[in-house]
Amino acid sequence: MENSKHPFIPYGRQSIDEDDIQAVVDVLKSDYLTTGPEVEKFEAKVADYVGAKYAVAFSNGTAALHAACFAACVGNGDEVITTPMTFVASANCVLYQGAKPVFADIDPETYNIDPDGIRKKINGNTKAILPVDFTGQPCNLDEIMELAKEHNLIVIEDAAHAIGATYKDSKVGSIADMTMFSFHPVKHITTGEGGMITTDNKDLYEKLHQFRTHGITRDPSLLNENDGPWYYEMQFLGYNYRITDIQAALGSSQLDKLEGFIERRREIVGQYNKAFRSLNELITPFQHTDGDSSWHLYVIQLKKDLLSIDRKQFFEELRQANIGVNVHYIPVHLQPYYQELGYKKGDYPIAEDLYEQTISLPLFPTMTNEDVQYVIDTVKGLIKEHQIG
Ligand SMILES: *Cc1c(COP(=O)(O)O)cnc(C)c1O
Repeated sequence: MENSKHPFIPYGRQSIDEDDIQAVVDVLKSDYLTTGPEVEKFEAKVADYVGAKYAVAFSNGTAALHAACFAACVGNGDEVITTPMTFVASANCVLYQGAKPVFADIDPETYNIDPDGIRKKINGNTKAILPVDFTGQPCNLDEIMELAKEHNLIVIEDAAHAIGATYKDSKVGSIADMTMFSFHPVKHITTGEGGMITTDNKDLYEKLHQFRTHGITRDPSLLNENDGPWYYEMQFLGYNYRITDIQAALGSSQLDKLEGFIERRREIVGQYNKAFRSLNELITPFQHTDGDSSWHLYVIQLKKDLLSIDRKQFFEELRQANIGVNVHYIPVHLQPYYQELGYKKGDYPIAEDLYEQTISLPLFPTMTNEDVQYVIDTVKGLIKEHQIG
């Protein structure tokens, strides 16, 4: 490689501009740093953007998933079906409620949970399905919603990767019973830490809202008694999962730019696809025509039979070249904690096999064309250097 290294390119990062900074400063100068007007404003904006009736913001996406499991009445003895090809939070939220995550393997093309696999795992204890829109590509929502209806299950869609994605002309966030978005800095829009659930169901909305603040309500229509204007009731055990007004104002400002962010992500994906599609040594991301991905991640699969180096070496070479590649994901059931719970290696072979050969290339809106070209040239160079035959 060259002597002078290209500056480090992370796999993902936030895009913050002066408007965002001003929005935060304005809150810092205002009366409310938390439980003020910015939270409701952000919730209304996201609900409006995705086309949902209600939205509840949380301190992070994981808290939002926990609240969704609570609102879906997931509890002791219940099972929730999810994918192993996800971040641990998608399954941990089920454990938080004392219930059991049940994994169903992925579709080898889309890498999303396979509805046929879900069908086989449904039994009398199943309470919910928790699919993930992996990399921003919507999961097979029609089939999953149909299955849920048939078996009276709640669908909690983990759309941490998928704000702005569409499925058959509907925005993700308007389809499942509850949809979760994350605002971690590597995601499409950020609040530092933050998350949200969107829903059309008023009962779920009220539960989510109350769960966020210790299980407390002040809503006169929900109170058992009313001692006076100070009165509130804690009606179940909730948490302090609130988001601050500082974060919410940042989120609102970021949301205004989401469409532009996604457009830029799609441009970069187009450049990657054009450069890599003709290479036999790797597989570019398959896109189903039912959906339009918001492209959180660009995941390539290396064909190990056609390369003289393995994924680990390929990964290390890219890191050596200052390209901050990553791997999404280590299948959840392979984590030591899950192994101790009794989940077995070998049970989800498609996810396990995918994990062995993927690399996520950098993808974020402020990547320059020069950054993109550098990644392309480096990947192509490595393939040329290590191709077999
Ligand atoms: C980021 C992420 C989460 C958790 O969101 P946080 O806001 O980091 O708590 C959950 N599921 C998936 C698939 C994610 O990528």
